[in-house]
This record gives sequence, structure tokens and C-alpha cells, in this order.
Amino acid sequence: MAVSKNLQTRMNKLAKDRAMFEQAKDYAFDYLGGVFEREVYPNEQALQNLKHFDEPMPIEADDPNKILKLLHDYGSPATVATTGGRYFGLVVGGSFAPVMAVKWLTDVWDQLAPLYVTSPIMGKLESVCEQWMNELLGLPKDCAMGLVSGTSMATMAGFAAARYELLRRAGWDVNTKGLFGAPPIRVVVGAEAHSSVFKALAILGLGKDRVELVPVDDQGRMRVDLVPQLDGNTLLILQAGNVNSGSFDPIDELCDMANKTGAWVHVDGAFGLWAAASESKRYLTKGMEKADSWSVDGHKTLNTPYDCGIVICRDRNAMITAMQANGDYILYSDQRDGMLYSPDMSRRGRAVELWATLKLLGKRGVEELVDGLCERASQFADEIKAEGFKVLNDVVFNQVLITCGTPDETASTLRNLQQSGECWCGSGKWCNTPVIRVSVCSWATTEEDISRTVIAFVKSQKAIIK
Ligand SMILES: *Cc1c(COP(=O)(O)O)cnc(C)c1O
Repeated sequence: MAVSKNLQTRMNKLAKDRAMFEQAKDYAFDYLGGVFEREVYPNEQALQNLKHFDEPMPIEADDPNKILKLLHDYGSPATVATTGGRYFGLVVGGSFAPVMAVKWLTDVWDQLAPLYVTSPIMGKLESVCEQWMNELLGLPKDCAMGLVSGTSMATMAGFAAARYELLRRAGWDVNTKGLFGAPPIRVVVGAEAHSSVFKALAILGLGKDRVELVPVDDQGRMRVDLVPQLDGNTLLILQAGNVNSGSFDPIDELCDMANKTGAWVHVDGAFGLWAAASESKRYLTKGMEKADSWSVDGHKTLNTPYDCGIVICRDRNAMITAMQANGDYILYSDQRDGMLYSPDMSRRGRAVELWATLKLLGKRGVEELVDGLCERASQFADEIKAEGFKVLNDVVFNQVLITCGTPDETASTLRNLQQSGECWCGSGKWCNTPVIRVSVCSWATTEEDISRTVIAFVKSQKAIIK
């Protein structure tokens, strides 16, 4: 009893401690002020200092100012500067300061967002985002949107809707009867599909190895002439944006083929679906509005903070039924109940950052963002080629794949580059060749950042050729 009273007294006092919030704000500004110039990857000292977090589970309460200070002193330097302009790893980019500010405010709200009754504002923002997303991406205006943690989960949710609906049409209720004894669903997918696609298939009992793999061309695009005969029991999985080359499957043609047969088409467009928001890049996603479901991340091309996966589904009923929302105590409303569109129940109000980013940018801003990333990727490709490096892919979007000399030289160059702190790029393999992957994905990347990165590549390569 005494303990909980102590806790309440203490927390009540802290809730009015403005100085603590001010301190957090100061640390955050301190961080933001340095993030564009500091080493992109934490240095050895910063990594060593992580030992300050090693301690047994504390028995007594600690001072919040000490907690903040510990995080800022040893946590801030051990972050990867993804919000700066020279992080080119994993197709993720920065986030906009005004959206971070929005996030701060709404963090204080601490809303629970499964239902309209648990948070009317979050329900409202979710339904607004649904309309906006359909319009921005040129999708049918009554498509259903669900918010999940990332594209991996969005893809899984899309496949779950597909699995439910394809089997329903075959006279089988997968929700009640499961998959054992069900009519088989065929899965047709490009050989270059993202690993999360196979993961989702495995989780849903559709199997990774029983898929019909469609060979791809030299850019990783599905070969239309090698797609097997589709039918009404087929899930056809397309890709808008190959995680290495950035290439797009021939979506228009494939959707037409599928739609003649009743196959369900899902488009994994984690970063590439945003091409649809740009006049000059829209040709890449042409025809995608003819698909049945789509998955995309806010936290990639759109530069929202993380935890912003988006699934969109043409058939609202299939989506909701597949997500199996249930429970006698659940107070559904005639407003937006977000858990109907997501495998989660308790969840934070994910719509806030998506809404704020779309409102901050507007259609024009999103277009400028997408075009800017693509332009700087092209700039990078041109400048790096001029320095004698090889670019292995057609740079159609924001991805550039680089080699220099032998595979060993490429690997050593990348190691030097990562250690330089000047920028951060990841590795990959393209056509069995080890490559350095550059994803231009942050709004913050300037032309100067690109040129500086090219110089870092040259220096990193020179350092190995002694
Ligand atoms: C990043 C990515 C994914 C996975 O998205 P997460 O948000 O990391 O779950 C899936 N497909 C493609 C093409 C991607 O680039």
C-alpha cells in the first residue's frame, strides 16, 4: 500500500515537472543540431560507452533527470544518424521535424487506438488518411486501409485478406475450418520478391517452397512471357520497387492478365508505391489500381517516423473478415474502428504521423520529395560512374548498386566507407555479385551530400589500393 502511494505521489509531482520536459527538449535540439554533421555511424568510443547501460535490474527508483541524461550522454552518440543526409542504408530515410513535434504532443496523449470509442481523434485521423492515401496513390476511392508496424505486416495482412477471399469463393471458410483440407491456393511470385513476402507466406500456411516462381529479367522484373496460366485460385504477388535495383514489375500487363482470370493481385510497394504520387515517376506503377491489395511503408520514401506500415485492400469485407476482430466486450461503432483493419488490438495511434506528414507536404510536397530522391540517386550514379565505379542497375527510382573492381575490393571499399563515418551504405548481392547498395531515401540528402559521399567512396577505394 505504502509503495503505491509513494509511486502516485512521486508521479503526480513529476507530471507537473516542466523542467524535465524542457530538459528532454534541450537534449533533442542538441541532437538535431548535430545530426547533419556528425559521423553517420557511431564511433568506437560511442559503442564502448554502451557499457554504461549494463546494470542489474534496479531495486530502487531512479531520478528521471538521471535517466534522461544517461540516454543523452551515451544513447544519442550510439544512434545511427538516419535523420541526417548521408544515411543510405535499407531504403529508409529521415523524418520531418514538424512531424516529430506532432509525435511529441501525441505521445503525451498516449492514446489507445483499436476503436473509435477508445480514441475518437485517432479513429478520425485514420479514416482521413484512408481517403487521402487512396487519392494520392490513384486507387479506387473506397479501398480499405489498415495501419500496421511495417510493410512485412502489411503484406501479411494483404495476403490474409487474399487467402480468406480466394477460399470463400471456392466455398471454404478459412477462418473456421483452417487450411487443412482446404482447396489449394496457388501462389505466383517473382524470383526477386522481397524476403518478407516469403515470410508472410510461411506464417499464413501458404508455404515458401510451393510457390510458382516466375523468372526475372536483368533488372529483377518479372518476365511476363514466363508467368504461368493464372486462375481464380491464384494469389499473384507483384513488386513495385525491388529492394536492390529499384525496378518495378510490369504491373499494368500483369494486372490485366490476372483480372481476366479472377486471380488476386497483391503489390508489395514498400518504398516504390510512392512513385504513383509523382507525375514523372507514375509510369512505373501504371495499372496498379487494378490490383486487389497493396502494401507500403510511410517510414521509407515518405519519411514518416518508424512504425508506419500501410495495407490497402479493395475488398473491405475481405480485409475485415480476415482480421478476425472479435470479442463480446468490443464496442464497435459506426465510426472508424482501426483494429478491424489490422491484426493488432491494443495499438498506438499510428495514423498521427502519417496524417501530419501528408498534411505537412500536400500532394505537391510528396511529389517533390519523391522526385528529389530520384534526382539525387541519378546524380549519385552519374558522379560515381565518372570516378570509374560500376553501376549495375538502371537507376529508375532511388536505388543505385555499385561495384569497384573485384568482389574483395568492393567489400573492402564498403568496410572503409562504413568506418569513415562520412556516410553509411549497406551491402547486397546483384546477379551473384556483391554490391554496395545506395538507397537515397531521406528528404535531407542534398546535392552536396551526394558529392561528399562520392568523394568518400573514392577515398575508401584508394585506401585499399596501396
Ligand atoms: C522494406 C521492404 C519490405 C519490408 O518492410 P518493413 O517495413 O521493413 O517491414 C518489404 N518489401 C520491400 C520491397 C521493402 O523494400
